[in-house]
Order: sequence, then structure tokens, then C-alpha cells
Amino acid sequence: MILGILFFEIINAILYYMASTKDIAKLFKEMALSAEFLGENKFRILTYQKVADILQGIEKDIKDINELKEYLEANQIHGIGESSIEKIEEYLKTGRIKKHDGFLQKVPKELLDIMDAPGIGPKTLKTLYDAFGIKNKEDLLKVLDSKEIRTLKGFGEKKIENIKRGLSLFEQAKERMFITDAYVMAMDILDYLKSQKEIINISIAGSLRRMRETIGDIDILVSAKKEDVPKIHEHFKVYKEVEQVIGSGETKTSVLLKNSKQVDLRVVEPHEWGSALQYFTGSKEHNVKIRDIAKEKGYKVSEYGIFDIKTNKRLGGEKEEDIYKIIDMVMPPPEIRENKGEIELALQGIVPDLVEYEDIRGDFHMHTTYSDGKASLRQMVDTCYKLGYKYIVISDHTKSLRVANGLDEKRFREQWKEIEAVQKEYKDMTILRGCEVDILEDGRLDLEDSFLEEFDYVIASIHSHMSPNTDNTKRIIKVCQNKYVNQIGHPTGKSYGFRDGYILNIEEVVKAAKETNTALELNIPRADLSPENIRYAVENGSNISIVTDSHSSTHLSFMKVGVGLARRGWALKNHVLNTKSLKEVKKFVKSKR
Ligand SMILES: [Zn+2]
Ligand SMILES: [Zn+2]
Repeated sequence: MILGILFFEIINAILYYMASTKDIAKLFKEMALSAEFLGENKFRILTYQKVADILQGIEKDIKDINELKEYLEANQIHGIGESSIEKIEEYLKTGRIKKHDGFLQKVPKELLDIMDAPGIGPKTLKTLYDAFGIKNKEDLLKVLDSKEIRTLKGFGEKKIENIKRGLSLFEQAKERMFITDAYVMAMDILDYLKSQKEIINISIAGSLRRMRETIGDIDILVSAKKEDVPKIHEHFKVYKEVEQVIGSGETKTSVLLKNSKQVDLRVVEPHEWGSALQYFTGSKEHNVKIRDIAKEKGYKVSEYGIFDIKTNKRLGGEKEEDIYKIIDMVMPPPEIRENKGEIELALQGIVPDLVEYEDIRGDFHMHTTYSDGKASLRQMVDTCYKLGYKYIVISDHTKSLRVANGLDEKRFREQWKEIEAVQKEYKDMTILRGCEVDILEDGRLDLEDSFLEEFDYVIASIHSHMSPNTDNTKRIIKVCQNKYVNQIGHPTGKSYGFRDGYILNIEEVVKAAKETNTALELNIPRADLSPENIRYAVENGSNISIVTDSHSSTHLSFMKVGVGLARRGWALKNHVLNTKSLKEVKKFVKSKR
């Protein structure tokens, strides 16, 4: 477990948990939505939205307004005007913004809470509010099933279905946390708990340790001497983010955080550490099978240890490995404990040599303020450098993606000049010229081949025309065949909490990717590819690349989560393109040209 703890220490050094900057961002977001709901001028809506985006991307807590101004200045971030600065200052001093309070008097709060749901939006809600006086989600659902709504202009069956689907995606996202969010939260709690010197072992458990894409509750396991246990529970209860203690007993304390997420802390004695960790990591399917195998061999496995059935003698449980060793198998990594083949292998003494964070040498996908990133090129480069990468690809959007301020040839050339200048300061990390080129409706690309040729690395992504009427499989296969395209960005189009993927024949895409030497991207913030997709891809010989698609420098540290997601898809080191040396990556690019 020492390794596990070390792992978390490394992460803690990189991740921050930002409460107040995000709180202010949320208020600005709500003001943008309210202003749109009330039909205020477009410029004002965009201003609020922009401020919300900027604040969301800031990596540290801002305590006073000067600190914010200095931060913006130092990072060349523009877009927060004088009146927004005043509002932020008001919040920092009083904990509220009067303008925001004003909006809340005109916009029902419960409508505001669902206004951001995909496929809904302020305008739709305003129409329904005016027509039917809806004030919350329940009203909305009733109206959606009514005859009356079908008489409203623009509310055909398809639109109504979209709203319903959007609401359900939104609800799911609220119920379960996305893994990167859960991870940041859990690391902060671990960090806080670890200040208690009585703690002997500490780890996350449950689905978070197994790196599921979404997490219900966060499970944390600790071991300590019996007499120290109450003190650890008490310490946990006063963690700064705790809103309410739901329950607390001898071994377990459950709390609700201020963001309404539940965290369960279990404290066990050191001799039970391993068996408890094994038990609470799951999955249920894995553990059921393990208990069956143990039983056949005359043992009983529980959270308290492993026992001889006949004599009831306790045989082990201090270390997690004990459980597996005694029933004569090796221990599978937590990420693949799903009873999907790992147990059969472990019985033969085989542990798949899954990719590890330490294997990662670079990140192929990130944005800067040139397109829709929140951090400057230099800031992104600097953060990557501190992560110890050997190479990175700066991959801003291309011109047809106007909402993301995509670049044309002229602006790319300007960016390359800056890359060249910055490169001189970071000698042991290579900055590759890249782009995330838009795939057009007919499968052609947004930039000419003659220009793509000048890039070191090209990602091609679908950002539009995703309806079932478009043959996305065909579009992607066509793109794979372009000799300048090295990677397919977010291949299935899935975006957790926002969008299901488009219709895609993943088998054909994997085949094309393999044949053309094109990598498929595991896009961390979207959890696209899924673990099932990854497993299929790597077993069928196509390369994957694990990328953060960072739009701010904080996102770059999510690579660790990405490695977890890849491990969950049984990816080995040699399946992952960004574990290769720069030389090998260049060879990969060249192999197509
Ligand atoms: Zn994209
Ligand atoms: Zn991107």
C-alpha cells in the first residue's frame, strides 16, 4: 500500500481544490443564464459567460481582488472588465453579488438549476415559463407530457424528446460524479486526513479506486490502532467541506459535502487493512467470484480477513495480497477487477502489465488562448514541463470552429513563431506544432493537405453534423486515410453529462485506424473511448493515445486519471502512443506520410 500512498502524494502536489473561485464562477454563470432568460442584451450575456469561464479556469483560490488582478496580468488573461471586477470584489468582501440577488427575484431558482441542461437552455424555458408558468423540473416534466405543449410553435416531438433526454443526462450527471471531479475531491480529503499521524494506512476504495468513469459515493479506507479510531472519525467530521454528518459509528462515518456528494470513511485495525481494502474495492462481481473460489478451496473471505472454514482460524488479511495468495492466485490490479477475465488469468499466475503513469512521456492534445483555452501557450508549456514530459503537442482548433475561435493559416503561423521562441527556454521538452482540425460534414478536413503537411502532429475531430443522418463511420474512415492525420479526437463523440456518442461502427473505425497507423484518442474529460472501446481497440491492434484535451493548465494533471481509465480498458504500455519516445512518435507520424 506504500505505493498507493506515494501515488497520492504525487497527485496532491499537482491538484488543487478550488472552492471560492469556482463559487464566483458559478454566480457569473447563473447571471449569464438569467440574463438570457430575461432576454437582456447579448453583449451582457457574453460578458458574464466569459468571466465565468475565466474564473473557472483559475488554478488557485483568490483571496482578494489585487491577487486576482495580478494573476490575470501575469497570465495575460483578458476579458474581465471593470464592472465585473467590482462584482468580484463585492463577492470577496460580502459573500454575495447584489446583481445576482436581483436576478434571483425575477428568475425561479429551480428553473435556473436546470437551465444549463443539454438541449434545454434559457430560451426554451422562458417560452414554457411564459406559456405555462412552469417553476421547476416537475412542472416542466408535466408540461412535456401535455397536449398543450404540442400546439406551441417549435415544440415538435423531436424537440420534446431532446428536452427529456437532456434532463435525464443532466440528472445522471448530478447523481454520479465524473471521475476527474471525484478524484480531485478525494485527493483533497486524503491530504486533509493524512495530517493525523495516527493513521497507518490510507487509500481510496470502491469504484473510484477501480477508476470507473462515474462515481456514486467516495469511499475512503484508513487503518489505525483501536484506541486511535474515534479521533480519526472526529477529525473527518470537521473537514472544511462537510455540510452534514449523516451517520457515525465505530468503524464508519458518512458525510454529505457542501456540494451534496457523499463520502464514507471506514477505519479498520491494521491486521484487517488488506482484507478490508480488497472487500471495499470490489467490484461486487469480482468479489463474489473470489469468495466462490476460496470456498471451493476450503477458505472463507470477508472484510475481516481470510479464514480456514473447518477450524475458523484466521490465515491473513493484513495485506491485500494475502487474500489472493492464500487461494493460490496473483492479485489483479484494482482497475480490472470486474470479473471479465482477470480472475482466470490470475489463477494462472498472470497479471496483465497495464500501462502506468510513470510510462507517460507526453500529452498530444491541449488548447491555448489562441483558440478556446484559458491559459497561454507559455503557461501550458510550463505546466507540462513541470510534469516531466519529453514532448507535447499544442493542438488548437481550426478556422471553421468559430465558437472556439479556431485558427486559420495566418494565425497558426503566428503561433509557430511563439512556439519557436518558447521552445528555446524549455530545452529538454519538445513542443510539437499540432492542431485539432475539424472534420467537415463530408469527411473532408478544414485545412488543406498542403498546409497540414507543415504540422508535426495532426488530430482530426468531429465537432458538428453529428445527427444520425450523417455517416460518421464513413467520415472517420476517410479521415484515417489522410496521410497527415495522426490521431482521431474523441472518436465516439460521447461527452459525459452532455451527449451520448453519435452512431458509430467502432469495429470498422478500429480496423481503419490500425490499417492506416492512426491513433485513437482516449479523451479524458469526455471519457471517450469507453473502457470497452479501449479493450476492443488494443486487442485488435490499434494504438491509443491518452490525452487531457486541456483547456486550462489545471486539466493537464488529469493524465493520471486517464491512465486509470486506460488500465480499466486493459491497455498495456506498448498500446499507448504517448508512452513512446519522441523518436518513435516521429517514426509513427512518418510511417503515414
Ligand atoms: Zn475536440
Ligand atoms: Zn480539443
